[in-house]
Amino acid sequence: MDVITVVAPCYNEQEVLPIFYRELCRVAEEMSARAEFEFLFIDDGSRDGTCSILKELREQDPRVCYISFSRNFGKEAGIYAGLEHAAGDYIVVMDADMQHPPAFIPKMYDAVVSGEYDCASTRRVTRKGESPLRSLFARLFYKVNNALSPVKMVEGAQDFRFMSRRMAEAVLELSERNRFTKGIFNWVGFRTKYLEYDNVERAAGKSKWSFLGLLRYSIEGILAFSTAPLLLPLLLGAILFAAGLVMAVLRLCGAGADLVCAVILMVGGAQLGCLGILGAYFSKIYLEVKKRPIYIARDIQK
Ligand code: UDP
Ligand code: MG
Repeated sequence: MDVITVVAPCYNEQEVLPIFYRELCRVAEEMSARAEFEFLFIDDGSRDGTCSILKELREQDPRVCYISFSRNFGKEAGIYAGLEHAAGDYIVVMDADMQHPPAFIPKMYDAVVSGEYDCASTRRVTRKGESPLRSLFARLFYKVNNALSPVKMVEGAQDFRFMSRRMAEAVLELSERNRFTKGIFNWVGFRTKYLEYDNVERAAGKSKWSFLGLLRYSIEGILAFSTAPLLLPLLLGAILFAAGLVMAVLRLCGAGADLVCAVILMVGGAQLGCLGILGAYFSKIYLEVKKRPIYIARDIQK
């Protein structure tokens, strides 16, 4: 029988964890003729009761495994740790807050097990319940990213991914520290089926994302997969040089506006901007070359 590992990163999820676990059990029961389950929770340095809930669940249910991080390393590190320790033939990565409804798992399993797809994911076709500002910026992110980056992202696609073991291994091959999982899932390729659904709000607890946090995450995503901004200085330099040339010619022809000041400002601004772009990439390189571990586990219960 096939074994499905559910990988769920959890950070301060004590309110929602019991609801999520109950729903997983219901789905496992529903699929019991076809597949067995392993539930692998990653406690990402939670400071509430998440870890003790996991300990209790494990005592009652041998399907429950967990990895507890020594501190908060972020959801991306949690996904990495989960993929590394998953024993299943199929692995499903999902949030613990019910925004990725476990009820989708049977449909995702059908799509992948048929051999037609290597991966099944969900795509939100509406963003109801989300603040308009957040939706606007999310749209903007997809536009900018898809214009700049060779790795195209599907708008609304989520990190709710049911994948074959082979795809999970490919994801692990990308051992970079700046892990923008949305991009990584696309970069490795494979055939993905998207199931569409309306946005679901979290069942309990609070989102860990602030607006600024999300903005920073979007910039990380673009830096991680696109080198186009590095070429911006070249473009800007060429435009400024051409503009300067035209002005010099105008001056020689006697059209005498004093543009020196404006030119200095423009050139100075462009130089600073370009340095900033270089700095952004160099900071990423700096972190990569350190080769620090992606996460540190305090406790592994498998
Ligand atoms: N999460 C995590 N580490 C973090 C932040 C979040 O493991 O540092 C987990 C969280 O417990 C949840 C999932 O990642 O299972 C998605 O987080 P959240 O619901 O806060 O994000 P949103 O859905 O608002 O984008
Ligand atoms: Mg959520």
